[in-house]
Amino acid sequence: MTTLLIAHDACLEHLTPAGHPERPDRVRVLNRVFEGEAFATLAREQAPLGEREDIVRVHPEDFVAALEEAMPNEGLVRIDGDTVLSPGTGEAIWRGVGGSVLGVDEVLTGKVDNAFVSMRPPGHHAETRTPMGFCLFNNVAIAARHAQKVHGIGRVAIVDFDVHHGNGTQEIFWSDPSVLYASTHQMPLFPGTGSVGERGTTDNVVNAPLRSGDAGEHFREAFESRILPRLNAFGPELLIISAGFDAHARDPLANINLLEDDFTWVTRKLMDVADKHCGGRIVSVLEGGYDLEGLARSASAHVMALMRG
Ligand SMILES: [Zn+2]
Repeated sequence: MTTLLIAHDACLEHLTPAGHPERPDRVRVLNRVFEGEAFATLAREQAPLGEREDIVRVHPEDFVAALEEAMPNEGLVRIDGDTVLSPGTGEAIWRGVGGSVLGVDEVLTGKVDNAFVSMRPPGHHAETRTPMGFCLFNNVAIAARHAQKVHGIGRVAIVDFDVHHGNGTQEIFWSDPSVLYASTHQMPLFPGTGSVGERGTTDNVVNAPLRSGDAGEHFREAFESRILPRLNAFGPELLIISAGFDAHARDPLANINLLEDDFTWVTRKLMDVADKHCGGRIVSVLEGGYDLEGLARSASAHVMALMRG
């Protein structure tokens, strides 16, 4: 059993203003966690730069060109109230794509059993034509399309347990029956989407919103009653996780009270689904998680579970 950890220090060079929650220290603490002895058996690879042809399956060429054009040579450029570009952002986001696609390649060729992409900025809020909510390229969407177009995979499930709804991923696959998008998230909360009634044009979207103050029991119930049955009925050939850890009780951006054990639990449940339908093939990509200690403990629990520890 091999779990692959994909990282690259270029993602520390995407800078945000002082006090911004989505900051390089998020990945620095994860780098330290995965240097620990408990993770000595991880396979490790550096994220390559992504390929343009992978990106333009999701984001149109003019969007990619406009984003490249907007990259500053110095200082920060604000795209919206939350989302900024710095001189290091270009390489960070191209490697974020490259790392996510590499995870798919290594898992689908059987080189490793599963993979965790420990990089930033996150991606699940990025829509086809709209970067937002700290996100520029939608890494999981690009990874899913790559799996389909390059590896001939049919059905891909994307499960998103970040505390925010992945509006971008939902928008990208809204009319695509080959991708099931399933999410737990706090509602109401940024970005405002993710109600139960949003189901995609072919019933391929499953939203299971949680309420402010909910804890592990509510999260587990949402998976048991709504998401896991739909995943099993769908029968994915590849499972991608939008792994945000901002539903942790310590997180400052939301008010869901998950603990590390809940991330272990959900990871094992998703592994059961993957074992049953697709030979255990999972690619997990970091999204949010803004309390450094909560993030470190939660991501540690998640990757330990992926290692079947
Ligand atoms: Zn989030």
